[in-house]
Amino acid sequence: MNVIVAENLYKNYNGLQAVAGISFSVRARESFGILGPNGAGKSSTVSMIYGFSPLSAGRLTVLGLDITRQARTVKARLGVVPQENNLDVDLTVLQNLLVYASYFSIPGPAARARALELLKFFSLEEKAGEKVEKLSGGMKRRLTIARALVNNPEIIILDEPTTGLDPHARHLVWQQMRALKEQGVTIVLTTHYLEEAHQLCDRLLIMDRGVILDEGRPDDLVDRHTGPEVLEAGGGAALKEEILPRIAGLARDHLAMGDTLYLYPRDGQALLAVLQGLPHRFSRLVLRQATLEDVFFKLTGRGLQ
Ligand code: ADP
Repeated sequence: MNVIVAENLYKNYNGLQAVAGISFSVRARESFGILGPNGAGKSSTVSMIYGFSPLSAGRLTVLGLDITRQARTVKARLGVVPQENNLDVDLTVLQNLLVYASYFSIPGPAARARALELLKFFSLEEKAGEKVEKLSGGMKRRLTIARALVNNPEIIILDEPTTGLDPHARHLVWQQMRALKEQGVTIVLTTHYLEEAHQLCDRLLIMDRGVILDEGRPDDLVDRHTGPEVLEAGGGAALKEEILPRIAGLARDHLAMGDTLYLYPRDGQALLAVLQGLPHRFSRLVLRQATLEDVFFKLTGRGLQ
């Protein structure tokens, strides 16, 4: 079952087209990622989904409801983690959750029980009475995610959930998101971190400049665009015309960028051996596993970061 269906979605800001006619759907209980560099249109897309930003054109249903006409009903069933932590720094950790619960008219005792349960889940129970301003960046992020779960949402939408966190704090957030997924919550997240997309998402949209470049499971995207390995030949870009005829059939595709020739081998070791036997001098010959960064690179000729 699809819980989000977007058809030909547009977002314009005074003539700037941030989202340019995209269509996609998100299935119940999946972890769905929108991956792209800064400015790709990821935030604009998700803020239409959580009813914060009106659609410029298109159609968008969330949980079967039209977001344009039924935003209030939809919002009550969503959890939202915005890019910036917008916690109330003057309140304690627990108070932040209780105040938020009151927006959903959750009765006092139930709100308190839910808040304490969430603090435990996010390993924040010892901080319950602490002022938010005393928390580390990672703890604030976890509290923002906890807050988004106060109303037991069916879908949680996270905009760049781990931007600015150190690797340890990031891994903690990932662990908790995996646990959430196991509880049956549908997760929609935006990210420009490849590892995050690969580790957390069942399915991904790759976005750039307001459009979708491709979508699929992370491993399928890698298979489709590059194959499992990449061979980087430093200094190979200028020698491309000489090299390519000599490795015909060994690489399924190539990309010359800067001074490097990126080759997508059918058999990495065989290709490496042939290149090593050529009379050309490469500054570097590296055979490595392909990643989503390579996919993005191949699709756009640019890096993601
Ligand atoms: P991403 O989340 O992928 O970084 P955004 O959706 O934030 O991308 O931005 C897409 C484009 O829209 C960018 O060029 C950005 O500057 C522009 N943009 C985003 N929000 C606004 C806004 N409120 N007003 C004007 N332009 C905006």
